Amino acid sequence: MEAFDDIRRSVKSLCAGFPGEYWRTLDAERAYPIAFVEALTQAGFLAALIPEEYGGSGLPLAAACVILETIQAEGCNGAACHAQMYTMGTILRHGSAEQKAHLLPQLAKGTVRLQAFGVTEPSSGTDTTAIRTFARRIGDHYVINGQKVFTSRAEHSDMMLLLARTTPRDQLRRKSDGLSVFLVDLREAVGISLRPIRTMMNHATCEVFIDTLHVPATNLIGEEGKGFRYILDSMNAERILIAAECIGDARWFIRKAADYARERVVFGHPIGRNQGVQFPIARAYAATEAAALMVKKAAALFDAHAPCGAEANMAKLLAAEASWQTADMCVQTHGGYGFAEQFDVERKFRETRLYQVAPVSTNMILAYLGEHVLHLPKSY
Ligand SMILES: Cc1cc2nc3c(=O)[nH]c(=O)nc-3n(C[C@H](O)[C@H](O)[C@H](O)COP(=O)(O)OP(=O)(O)OC[C@H]3O[C@@H](n4cnc5c(N)ncnc54)[C@H](O)[C@@H]3O)c2cc1C
Repeated sequence: MEAFDDIRRSVKSLCAGFPGEYWRTLDAERAYPIAFVEALTQAGFLAALIPEEYGGSGLPLAAACVILETIQAEGCNGAACHAQMYTMGTILRHGSAEQKAHLLPQLAKGTVRLQAFGVTEPSSGTDTTAIRTFARRIGDHYVINGQKVFTSRAEHSDMMLLLARTTPRDQLRRKSDGLSVFLVDLREAVGISLRPIRTMMNHATCEVFIDTLHVPATNLIGEEGKGFRYILDSMNAERILIAAECIGDARWFIRKAADYARERVVFGHPIGRNQGVQFPIARAYAATEAAALMVKKAAALFDAHAPCGAEANMAKLLAAEASWQTADMCVQTHGGYGFAEQFDVERKFRETRLYQVAPVSTNMILAYLGEHVLHLPKSY
């Protein structure tokens, strides 16, 4: 029996209530999947990684991977809320006892959403240490000014984490110092405004404008100036979880393509009898299974508290490539119908393309492997 089979079955049965038609309607209306997120919350899946002492399920990352993989494999989209699972990790690992005791039980119950993390800025892009958003300490508050871009789910979050500079870059020896993470309560924030960005798929992401935002000093996470390290700390979990989503997408595309290739008859026989149709499905299947093994390995290392930077990055790289390969294959297998909305293939195709770029682009993973694993010169 596969590990966490019971979880897989429960997620599958929950997802059955949210068929393609549900996602198609949301896609057309660019609406947030409120009912789906609510169902996942009520079932406790979004609290999987919160320790039991704070009211969560205290499950390992491998179990969270099964949850997200199954959501995607059933044709749903976990991107609307996957960050509710893992954004809290920064608080769990680096927050104060008070912050944890106050916030984690609310997140576990689902009464508070913390599923936005503002890191990227228009002028810094991939170069996180070049961010300009600045937090100045004044008495018992920080006053923050700046701008974020592509902050996902901020409109659907009660709170968000925000990365800001607290010491100017030119006053530091190491550019990765002097960055800090803040917990921002969006429900009561004055000085923050959101502007949605329309994207190629229904992904609630937005620009965040920050003008003289007052944040209590008690909302600083961990130590001032150590924020970049805290972010790096969270990246492995995020990469492994997103990789699991990609595996789920890939399995959906393969199932959909194989079913269609068996049923669609042209020239008097099923198109799947043609090797030109069959082999790309088989090749995509092999790529997916190989990537899935790396995801499993990375999650196992993470759960054993062993170093897993290389494996987490490779899992993300291979799984995102597999999902994109299967997506392309699935469109091709469906011919013209791959473009017709009612088949859901074009929607999933658009959705899975994101994972080549966010939360980390393929190039940055290759740069990580080149520098940290193969000891090649740093390329940037
Ligand atoms: C839908 C969506 C949701 C997102 N959600 C969030 C979020 O919630 N929070 C958040 O903080 N950010 C989020 N992002 C931002 C995402 O992480 C960034 O797009 C990403 O960091 C790249 O930044 P950029 O778009 O400015 O690209 P740039 O940094 O301008 O890079 C452009 C291209 O050049 C490549 N490149 C740049 N430098 C190098 C180099 N040295 N070597 C090789 N290649 C290089 C990149 O890999 C990329 O392909 C989201 C993005 C999208 C599209």
